[in-house]
Amino acid sequence: MKVLLRPAVLKAGDKINMRIILLGPPGAGKGTQAKTLAERLNLAHISTGDILRENASKGTQLGQQAKEYMNKGALVPDTLVSQMLTQRFSQPDIQSGFILDGYPRNINQAETLDDVLKQRNMGIDMVIYLDTSESVIIQRLSGRLVCSLCGRNFHIKNMPPEKEMTCDDCGGRLYQRTDDKEETIKKRLEVYKKESSGLVQHYQEKSKLFSVSADQEAPMVINKIIQLIDEYNDSHKK
Ligand SMILES: [Zn+2]
Repeated sequence: MKVLLRPAVLKAGDKINMRIILLGPPGAGKGTQAKTLAERLNLAHISTGDILRENASKGTQLGQQAKEYMNKGALVPDTLVSQMLTQRFSQPDIQSGFILDGYPRNINQAETLDDVLKQRNMGIDMVIYLDTSESVIIQRLSGRLVCSLCGRNFHIKNMPPEKEMTCDDCGGRLYQRTDDKEETIKKRLEVYKKESSGLVQHYQEKSKLFSVSADQEAPMVINKIIQLIDEYNDSHKK
């Protein structure tokens, strides 16, 4: 066990200008962690899910193409996603650092990302893997409830709504996603493991991979990640 000789120096609002990827299985809490980290460290939050929804709702050309796949319940092809990502990386807020969640999902996407960043003379500093045990993932995902109107997430045990099966925010009806059933979760995890093993190796070979246990509650995990980023910054000061 490593003993910390000094307290973490990163405080809310500190600027660190780093490019970070969050990796982890479904249920690891990537989305929540990325959002909080981006706010606390003044980084742009890039979520491919958000980019897809934004393009679709604005009706951009890429968004319309993506919508056709989404409406069919099919996966949006890599080429479309990477085109949207390239557009996102041309926006000015990227210059002061970003945190990427939900992408890359496989080795092909990782290579695409490397290319897109290279064209802009950028590279990834850290890849943080949210290591989460299967039992925790099943417990988190199988209890998840989603609002049918606004999309807010609740949890049967960890974050129950005030009124049974009703959204606190908009009064919408809550439901369980069909892919959040235990047997489906296990299948999703298997797919994830297969897809991500090459990804993990890719970043390990570049000495960019850092692992954090994400079994604890979100605030504890966030603190551990910030500590890791802080240590990285400290040892890479020029
Ligand atoms: Zn709602």
